[in-house]
Amino acid sequence: MDKALPMTLQQSPCHETHAPTYYAASANRDLRCPSLEGDCQTDVCIVGGGFTGLNTAIELAERGLSVVLLEARRIGWGASGRNGGQLIRGVGHDLDRFMPILGEEGVDELKRMGFEAVDIVRERIARYAIDCDLTWGYCDLATKPRHLKGFEEEYAELKRLGYPHELRRVSRRNLGEVVGSTRYLGGLVDMGSGHLHPLNLALGEAAAARSLGVRLFEQSAVQRIDHGPKVRVHTAGGCVQADTLVLACNAYLDGLEPRLAGKVLPAGSYIIATERLPEALCNELLPQNMAVCDQRVALDYFRLSADRRLLFGGACHYSGRDPKDIAAYMQPKMLEVFPQLVGIAIEYQWGGMIGIGANRLPQIGRLPGQPNVYYAQAYSGHGLNATHLAARLLGEAIGGQQAGRFDLFAKVPHKTFPGGPLLRSPLLALGMLWYRLKDAV
Ligand SMILES: Cc1cc2nc3c(=O)[nH]c(=O)nc-3n(C[C@H](O)[C@H](O)[C@H](O)COP(=O)(O)OP(=O)(O)OC[C@H]3O[C@@H](n4cnc5c(N)ncnc54)[C@H](O)[C@@H]3O)c2cc1C
Repeated sequence: MDKALPMTLQQSPCHETHAPTYYAASANRDLRCPSLEGDCQTDVCIVGGGFTGLNTAIELAERGLSVVLLEARRIGWGASGRNGGQLIRGVGHDLDRFMPILGEEGVDELKRMGFEAVDIVRERIARYAIDCDLTWGYCDLATKPRHLKGFEEEYAELKRLGYPHELRRVSRRNLGEVVGSTRYLGGLVDMGSGHLHPLNLALGEAAAARSLGVRLFEQSAVQRIDHGPKVRVHTAGGCVQADTLVLACNAYLDGLEPRLAGKVLPAGSYIIATERLPEALCNELLPQNMAVCDQRVALDYFRLSADRRLLFGGACHYSGRDPKDIAAYMQPKMLEVFPQLVGIAIEYQWGGMIGIGANRLPQIGRLPGQPNVYYAQAYSGHGLNATHLAARLLGEAIGGQQAGRFDLFAKVPHKTFPGGPLLRSPLLALGMLWYRLKDAV
């Protein structure tokens, strides 16, 4: 495993053609795939080589279907290869508001699927022996008394639903056992959530898909889709003819399918990685090596990497513009949490696009009027587990075994953000400002 260390700060903003430098530098395989040249036929064509696309490919290939996957850049180039690596239970947010559409039972089923989502990742890693530094332990952190009240409610709800993993409320007095910062009022520990190296997971899943016969193509951007009983998917170099199409581009969909693009709003999130830290300092920052998040709308999320760096992420930009210097922007946020890191070098910085949905429930469904075109997107920054669940549901629906669980998601309507492609982001930025002001109170 090549863990070459950079001598200078590495920056990889959202739109570069390589995966973010820290994850790329610590990638444990160099998976190269050809670009599509010429025409081919398959049962299912998948567009997008992130967790959604790769895992849908695995689910379908495991069910005996032939699959072609087309990725515009490199496997894991999108959010999947550049995220915080926090594997956290649950899908969506405030699910009780879907009761009028799904009923109490339906909502409980969604909640339990949020537990299953993490199990799918756990099982996939075990089944295909994927080396991705999977570590168990996660803590939600409170910065306001109302967050503590929220933890009490969440704890009671998880117990009611029979959540099978250890949960622990941690008081402010005992919080030093989890995080070496005086900033927080308390926490909720969950030993059924954790963290991992996301690019190594994506590359391992790509290798697993390939071992099942999935044909993977990189540098193969889809330019045009002809719909019909057979879908024809065109790239610059060739065309795939398929019975079924799956769109798995999330925040990077751009103009490929305008009916979906307006329902997912790309927002920039940013991460810095420190130099390698002494073991004693790591034990002081995160004594139990848990992943942690606070509860604000534009939250901080952080964890240690396997090679003992602090990976500190946060912010949420809707402008489509990355900060000029991500480290200069993120480092003060990190120092607010951990003032003891003054003088510690930042060796990597990067950004990526989160796909936000208006109601924050992942959008999993079929294109209206096109029964052979499926999609999954809008994980709203909580996609590591939810992509794997989406892939399982797509596998069940396309594989023909069980559409009920897919239908539960597909039943929920999703609003198109107002403002059209030009005004959407500024309007949402205004809306988010309001939420941030509310956060500050
Ligand atoms: C900075 C950051 C931190 C995050 N942290 C966390 C976290 O800690 N925990 C968590 O649960 N979630 C996190 N998320 C969210 C999570 O990473 C995403 O929800 C998830 O990776 C989405 O996976 P995906 O496969 O749907 O999309 P992506 O991984 O974005 O993949 C989409 C792919 O589609 C390709 N594509 C687009 N257009 C075309 C085309 N025309 N032809 C072919 N290919 C195309 C793109 O190149 C891209 O590779 C984070 C996201 C970001 C950006």
